[in-house]
Amino acid sequence: MPYKFSFDLSRVPQSFFRGLVKAAYKKNMHRRIGRGVRQLAGKLKIRELTGLNISDVFMLVEDLVDIHAKNLLDREKFLKTRKRVLFLPHCSRKYMDSRCRAHFDPKVPSYYCAHCSPDCLINKATALGEERGYDVYVLPGGTCIHQILEKNSYEGVVGVACGQELKEGGELLKNNNILGQAVFLIKNGCANTKFNLKSLGEIL
Ligand code: SF4
Repeated sequence: MPYKFSFDLSRVPQSFFRGLVKAAYKKNMHRRIGRGVRQLAGKLKIRELTGLNISDVFMLVEDLVDIHAKNLLDREKFLKTRKRVLFLPHCSRKYMDSRCRAHFDPKVPSYYCAHCSPDCLINKATALGEERGYDVYVLPGGTCIHQILEKNSYEGVVGVACGQELKEGGELLKNNNILGQAVFLIKNGCANTKFNLKSLGEIL
């Protein structure tokens, strides 16, 4: 299930995310470092930048730390995997209508980018994934992952999605003994969602 609130973290400096993970790792109790995170959020004007109320911010913050921490914990094993797949969210496409030339295969189910727009985030991410040897799927929803994993023997998965979907996907991977790495959306919604391409490049 996606979040019940909207967020746009694209203006939040990456140093905020790095600071969060460091703080959580140092204390090994990120769900209990409320005061430190509150101060950091205040200092960097997270509420002003995102428009989120502080409890939503905290939910996001906890999820972001969980995701980063899990990435770090699984990193070494993930790097040993050979057959890998990249799952991208269809809502990050430049166009959500017929102007998007992606081919949709309902049997998979997945979109396949036709590279119609050089400035489309999915175009760039697809090219990056393929360049690094990944199979790339542009998914209409998180429930498709199950079907794709059933039909293919992937050892490693990189997923781009909102924090909540990443957590659910993480559970699925864990139950299937597949190693995963995650990149969270820095702007959610039904369309024009965003993720950091540089972060994706570092994960792949
Ligand atoms: S570049 Fe790919 S995903 Fe983006 S609008 Fe074109 S076909 Fe769709």
